[in-house]
Formats: sequence, structure tokens, C-alpha cells
Amino acid sequence: MMGDGGNDQVSDQVAAVELTAITKRFGSVVAVDNVDLKIADGEFFALLGPSGCGKTTTLRMIAGLELPSEGSLKIFGDEAGTLPPNKRPVNTVFQDYALFPHMTVEVNVAFGLKMQRVPKVEIADRVGEAISLVRLEGLEQRRSQQLSGGQRQRVALARALVNRPKVLLLDEPLGALDLKLRQEMQGELKALQREVGITFVFVTHDQEEALTMADRIGVLNEGELLQVGTPAEIYEHPVNRFVANFIGQTNLLDATVVSNDTVCLANGVHIPGKSDLGVGSRVAVCLRPERAEMQRPDEVPADHQSVVGRLESVTYLGNALVYTVVLDWARLEVRRENQPGGYRPYVGEEVAVSWTLDAISVVRA
Ligand code: ATP
Repeated sequence: MMGDGGNDQVSDQVAAVELTAITKRFGSVVAVDNVDLKIADGEFFALLGPSGCGKTTTLRMIAGLELPSEGSLKIFGDEAGTLPPNKRPVNTVFQDYALFPHMTVEVNVAFGLKMQRVPKVEIADRVGEAISLVRLEGLEQRRSQQLSGGQRQRVALARALVNRPKVLLLDEPLGALDLKLRQEMQGELKALQREVGITFVFVTHDQEEALTMADRIGVLNEGELLQVGTPAEIYEHPVNRFVANFIGQTNLLDATVVSNDTVCLANGVHIPGKSDLGVGSRVAVCLRPERAEMQRPDEVPADHQSVVGRLESVTYLGNALVYTVVLDWARLEVRRENQPGGYRPYVGEEVAVSWTLDAISVVRA
């Protein structure tokens, strides 16, 4: 699945954006390190990673706001690495929106078209269309400083969409909004992308946002593109410990590869676990809390692997309970829906945490 970073999934068509061996250095800092990436036409693609991982720099290179130090960048098949931003079929929505505060919504949205000397009648049509796409009808004459955060965000989107870009670049566009509005806008942005049908490349450090909205996600760390895949592929089959930890909650058990279908856990017990990383490789067994099961130690089903520990605490989350089980060499979380019945161990009790082979993935340590 890795190797080419999941890029084979878009190989049959001309990619909207194609980065080949792209590196960006700022002095001695390698902000983006030898990245290969193909983003398909019409895709909602999220670049995800912690602060400083190089996601904004990658986006700015696609926008033409930074030049790559090395490598090739194509937009719809055309070499674009050195084209100025206004010669690329892309537009960017910045986190701070960069609106003119004293100007009306309409003037803000029309600004770019006026600069390009588009005929007035066409400007009026296109501005009307963009404003209706982002559902701001009725607010055309409002100054942007008189708008709420969510409304400003829509103006910024309309101002980018009015140029009819083939690729829309969004740099943490929901970052300035409070949690509730942010969640609302996630749904709206996804719906908007479906409606306009153009490629969206979205930068975020929020894994939940990426999982909710993106068709595919590229996970970056320290300038390296670690994995590219659908939300389900990345969540179910993270390629290494970093990705497993960064996307969702997970339990990671240290282990060593014994053969391609057996690993040895840190407690010396051999268990089934598929890996092609080679005998002797240090790995981690990734077990998501919702895929882990819990029984009394003498009641573990025959087809399950298990470890035994002591229940340290139970965290109440309303719709779920999280059980923390402590072993000498590891700590595990088990998440259960909050439903009546079933096994409810007490704190201090000895419990088995168990799993079936399909519940785990073996990842690079
Ligand atoms: P954040 O989420 O905090 O914005 P990011 O993942 O977008 O982070 P980048 O802004 O791409 O990260 O930065 C990647 C690395 O490059 C960082 O170490 C950063 O300090 C460095 N960097 C970015 N821009 C410059 C610049 N103009 N000059 C020097 N170093 C830079």
C-alpha cells in the first residue's frame, strides 16, 4: 500500500496536482523533504500533520507563493513549479481570510475580477453566483467587519471561487472558528466541494477534521510524507507508530517480528500478527480501543489473543466508557459503548484484554 505513498490510486488520469521529488529548504531547515504526491481531479485532499511538519509550505508551493528547492510540480499535467501565482489555475483561502474590512461583501468578492478587468456584467453574474454558492444572499451590502466569523469565512470562500479555479487551496480555513461552528462548516465545506466539483487541497493539524471531510489524507511529519490513503485506510492500517498515534486513539504494544505472520510481544509471548517488515524488525501492535475486548481471564474466547492486567480506572464519556488496564510492560485502553448489561469489571480487578487477528495491525516502530 505504501511505497509510492498511495499514489497509484490516481494513476489512470491526469492528476490535478502532481509533486515529484519536491524538496523545500529554508537555509538549513528542510521544510519539505523529497515528497511525491498525486492529487486527483475533483478530490477533497487533506494535508495533515503537527505544527511545523511542512504542510503550509507544501500548499504555498502549489499556490506559487514559494518556489521548490528541488523537484517538479505539475498542475493538470503542465509544469508549474516556476509559474507566478496568478498564472496558475488555483486560488487560496487563508486562515485569516485577508478580507478588506471596510468593504462590502460584494466588493470583496468582486475585487479580483475587477483587477483582471472582467466586463461589469460578467462580474455581477459571477459574484452573484459565488455569493449564492456560499449562502450569503441578503448580506451583499454588509461590510466584512460587520460579519460573524463563519460569514467571513464564507466571503473568503466566495472570493476564491469567483475566479473559477481548477484547484482550491485552503490553509486551516476553519482554524479561527469555535468548535461548534467549525463542525457545522466542515459539513458545509464538504457539500460545497461536491457542488462545485473542483479539487480542494486542505491543510489541517486536526485529525478529526481530516477524517470527516477528506476523500484522501496525506500525513506529514518533519517534512516527510509518511502515508497517503483514504481515512479508513489510514485509520485501519497506519504505516507506522507516528501515524497510528496521530490519527485517533490507539494502543501500541512493543513487539519484534518473528516471521511474516508471527510477532513476539515485549512480554516474550508469540502471537499471530502479519508483517512484511522482516524478521527481527522492531514493530508495534496497534489495537484501537474500540476493537479491543475485555473478559474475565478464564473466559477469553478460543480464537482471541489476550493479555492480562489490572483495571486501573474507568472514564465516563456519556455515550461510552473507557477502561484503562495496566500491565507490567504496557497500558491499554478498551472503549465500550455505554449500554446496559455485559461485563462490567470493578477497579482493581484482574481482567483480560483480548482481540482477534483482524482487529490489529502491525506497524513500524
Ligand atoms: P503550522 O501548522 O504551525 O503552520 P506547518 O506544518 O504548516 O506548521 P510549515 O509552515 O510548512 O509547517 O513549516 C515547516 C518548517 O519550515 C518549520 O520548521 C518552519 O519553521 C520552517 N519555515 C517555514 N517557512 C519558513 C521561512 N519563510 N523561513 C524559514 N523557515 C521557514
